[in-house]
Amino acid sequence: MSYSPYLLKGQKALVTGASSGIGEAIARYLAASGAAVAINYHSEAESAQKIVDDIKAANGEAFAIQADVSKEDQVKAMFSLTLKQFGTIDILVSNAGIQKDSAFIDMTLDQWNAVIGINLTGQFLCAREAAKEFLRRGVKPDISCAAGKIICMSSVHEVIPWAGHVNYATSKGGINMMMQSIAQELAPHKIRVNSIAPGAIKTPINKSAWDTPQAEANLLKLIPAKRVGNVEDIAKAAVWLASDDSDYVNGTTLFVDGGMTLYPGFTDNG
Ligand code: NAD
Repeated sequence: MSYSPYLLKGQKALVTGASSGIGEAIARYLAASGAAVAINYHSEAESAQKIVDDIKAANGEAFAIQADVSKEDQVKAMFSLTLKQFGTIDILVSNAGIQKDSAFIDMTLDQWNAVIGINLTGQFLCAREAAKEFLRRGVKPDISCAAGKIICMSSVHEVIPWAGHVNYATSKGGINMMMQSIAQELAPHKIRVNSIAPGAIKTPINKSAWDTPQAEANLLKLIPAKRVGNVEDIAKAAVWLASDDSDYVNGTTLFVDGGMTLYPGFTDNG
């Protein structure tokens, strides 16, 4: 990882679901870019602490904080502790997400509510708390030309329907409209809100899709770039969206998917 420790110098970030996968990589890249990072975790305390220790060993600043992002009281407590620890917050990466897959007619209300609660309501709760602090503090030109940046972790399934995953695809479609509406409302206050929509990335959430040669071969039929993505592909996009290099980018979804949303099934050599 060769990142300038000055890019996000002096900025304070919170990454949800940062104890594994994409969130972990984003937390590590933000820290390598100079940001102090709050590492939110749900149940993997040891992993979160290891990430904190690694960041500190590289002269960065981080701490781990437990919270279930779908619970309003826990999100509020997480933000007040983060503000106590860091003084303020400049970057929110709302990354926590789950899948609870089921054929549509067998999907239980619990499966539906769990996914919507964490993937969509969790992002609403976190974005609201972050926005309050951005508005309170305003722009500090020596830190960033924005009053704050929110990055929502979406998915290619915000636009690609996904049979057997109605709850997940709905949560990601909802993130798109939530992100754009918040961006429209807060842009005059110099707050930027964008999403990243990963394609298939090798992480625990989708292990069965890539962990055997046959599964990976099937998956590659959907990816024009002919490789499954890695967490660094997403982390690099997150650093850019968090930095002033993307200052004129607001209310958009950055697809980082090796071309999955190009619908490769429609090519002659698909
Ligand atoms: P992952 O399972 O490694 O990460 C999900 C994280 O969310 C975990 O750290 C988990 O502990 C955390 N989490 C779950 N419930 C939580 C809760 N209630 N409160 C706080 N944290 C909670 O998988 P990942 O692939 O790194 O997923 C990260 C995000 O990326 C998710 O939003 C996912 O939908 C999205 N995404 C992943 C892929 C992919 O191919 N891996 C593709 C598109 C989108």
